[in-house]
Amino acid sequence: MPAWFTENLHTDLGQRLRIDEVICEHTTAFQSLLIFKNKLLGKVLALDGIIQTTEADEFIYHEMLSHVPILAHGHPKTVLIIGGGDGGILREVLKHRSVEKVILVELDSKVIEICKKHLPSLSAGAFEDPRLELIIGDGYQYVMLTDQTPDVIIVDSPDPVGPASKLFSSQFYQNCQRILSTTGVLVTQNGVPFVQEAELLNGAKLLSENFHDVAFYLAPVPTYQGGAMAFGWASNFPELRKVSLDELEQRFARAALATSYYDPAIHLSCFTTPKWISNVLYNSELQNPNP
Ligand code: SAM
Repeated sequence: MPAWFTENLHTDLGQRLRIDEVICEHTTAFQSLLIFKNKLLGKVLALDGIIQTTEADEFIYHEMLSHVPILAHGHPKTVLIIGGGDGGILREVLKHRSVEKVILVELDSKVIEICKKHLPSLSAGAFEDPRLELIIGDGYQYVMLTDQTPDVIIVDSPDPVGPASKLFSSQFYQNCQRILSTTGVLVTQNGVPFVQEAELLNGAKLLSENFHDVAFYLAPVPTYQGGAMAFGWASNFPELRKVSLDELEQRFARAALATSYYDPAIHLSCFTTPKWISNVLYNSELQNPNP
């Protein structure tokens, strides 16, 4: 009888993945880490029993959380990644030659060490790139203390549990707003609205308290159960969300990116959210984040 990995992230809904081979099981100073093989999904990374990423669908999430803000900005020099210890976001960000410096702040060095060894396709050598400044520490503390002024901040955090919960707080977003360059943008992993409506509302409320232009964009990541994932967008430079398709196509061509999900048409359409998401936000008297 095969063994099964069961994810119980949500109270009324769960998912299970067959474990075809356990690759690594380890308890770090911060969380339990499991990497196993599944015939459909390839290698799967789970932290504290919650699926973080899989070889089969990681491209969707990592391309959308990286290329949407970077190509909207057009010429970011410094990118700050909070979390992201598996290296997928780092890999995608470093594809942009215009990016001169990437600061990655990961709480748990064991995630980096074990993912480099057992999930090398995610970082694909990115941790060796000379443009990387790697900091092992709490992203919440980092944004409070740093004097860096990143043009793009990417919060590649787990769900708001344990040490990651502070990354979904107003204080954290306030410090992100303080350090972000004037034409910069913050993007976040903001959960799956259909099963994490409170996370959508919390993100909209707290981002709106700290930024003028707040929106959400969507992409379907199959192993983030419950429908499309929402990515938070926050900037004090609304023009970033008004870049034309033609301009995005020129930037995409100049970047010469090899992608499997992202393209300029997807970039523009992903900010179109269905009525039920707009209703959830309107009915909570939140300002329309997607005017
Ligand atoms: N793509 C995944 C998702 O959507 O859930 C997230 C992947 S990545 C593995 C999440 C990383 O955030 C983990 O390596 C975890 O150790 C790190 N992390 C959690 N809390 C953190 C904090 N306060 N500061 C920095 N990194 C943190």
